[in-house]
Amino acid sequence: MALSGLEIYKLLPGGIKPPHPKANCKECGYPTCLAFAMKLAAKQAELSLCKYVSDEAKGKLEASAAPPIRLVALSAGDRKVQAGNEIVLFRHEKTFFNRPGLFVRVKDTLPAAEMKALVDAVAAYEVDYVGIKLRMDGLAVEAAVGDAAKFADAVKVAAAVKMPLILIAKDKALMEAGLNAAAPIVPLLYAADESNWQAMSELAKAKKAPLALKGKGDLQALASLADQVKGAGLENLVLDPGTRGFGDSLQIATQMRRLAIKANQRACGFPLITFPGEGPDAALEAPLAAQHVAKYGGFVVLDHFSPALVYPLLVLRQNIYTDPQKPIQVQPGIYEINSPKPDSPVMMTTNFSITYFAVANEIEGSGMPAWLLIADAEGMSVLTAWAAGKFDADKIVKTIKTTNIESKISHKKIVIPGAVAVLSGEVEGEMPGWSIMVGPREAVDIPSYYKNVWKSA
Ligand code: SF4
Repeated sequence: MALSGLEIYKLLPGGIKPPHPKANCKECGYPTCLAFAMKLAAKQAELSLCKYVSDEAKGKLEASAAPPIRLVALSAGDRKVQAGNEIVLFRHEKTFFNRPGLFVRVKDTLPAAEMKALVDAVAAYEVDYVGIKLRMDGLAVEAAVGDAAKFADAVKVAAAVKMPLILIAKDKALMEAGLNAAAPIVPLLYAADESNWQAMSELAKAKKAPLALKGKGDLQALASLADQVKGAGLENLVLDPGTRGFGDSLQIATQMRRLAIKANQRACGFPLITFPGEGPDAALEAPLAAQHVAKYGGFVVLDHFSPALVYPLLVLRQNIYTDPQKPIQVQPGIYEINSPKPDSPVMMTTNFSITYFAVANEIEGSGMPAWLLIADAEGMSVLTAWAAGKFDADKIVKTIKTTNIESKISHKKIVIPGAVAVLSGEVEGEMPGWSIMVGPREAVDIPSYYKNVWKSA
């Protein structure tokens, strides 16, 4: 449970009885121990700034500062995916931090050539979404045959593309063969249950691998299993509640998130792993996966892979896990579209990503060469920025001057968005010799504006 500022103070040198000789020494950078305690409570300072906290107090303070849902990370080469560390139930309360990893299951029953083709396709899949690269996160290799050599071969094929891995096997010897084949990648081991948790825990501990625990839809039993495994010395756990339907998996995932965040139930405070392809109807894998992305999957393992299946999930995930307090934005500056020449038009808009891509795509699609001037409007769209005073005449003038667009063009004309037509006179007043043209209000009208207005201007 998070401690209040006063509770923290009672553990610091100034708050203990009798006070530590160094109480209020200011070495932490704060005038008193109480001021430091308040900063710690607000998570605006690090405990390590005070060298005089006793070990016992340190233990209590660190435990209280631990996130309610443990962070579990998987990596391979330059790819990394992590789940957990969430602190709210709903995104609008603050934000969600770690996007659920999207994995594709490959079984060792697949013929080698098919497996390689699938693994390569998953690894190579990448789409550009408003300037953000969306990719799959990893592969889950399942020992379906039950043969260690066969499983190891399959794991090697998956490991070759250097994506984070999940190994699926129930038997310790099989899992060990997979783990050795995956090296140096450290995969998530799936899964320990009531029948094999001791053997799997030993293996996970020896290989420093995270371990998934599988339940049977009974939250109490899964929490007890988590406590047992934690007692065996493992902290990096992932939970599979064992539910597979829409209603039951939503209910248990919500319950677990609530218990972890609101009641600080540490046994529920681990990321979830889900298998939407194992739902009641395989044809509903996509909507079930979407539910898990929204609430509250940490690692989502798909049984199929195709752009049509994964693209909507990646976009949904991106939308949910984008911090609503930080608009997605592109770099301000000059963007050259369709190899512009000195006599090409200069169009200006703001650096909100969606605005930028709407305008850039229309220009690109029209085949019109143009200079696109992007003003720094703190990531806001044109009208929002104008209303907030972030895209006014001064900002337009500043953008024209700081980008030095003048050195690239043979005319002195700038097209500003139609939504801020009201600014044209003021900008012209500040930029003698320049002609400030008013473009269309909507990006979709840019091609016809080019044909009908710019060319005849
Ligand atoms: Fe108090 Fe800060 Fe000195 Fe620690 S370093 S004893 S918190 S004033």
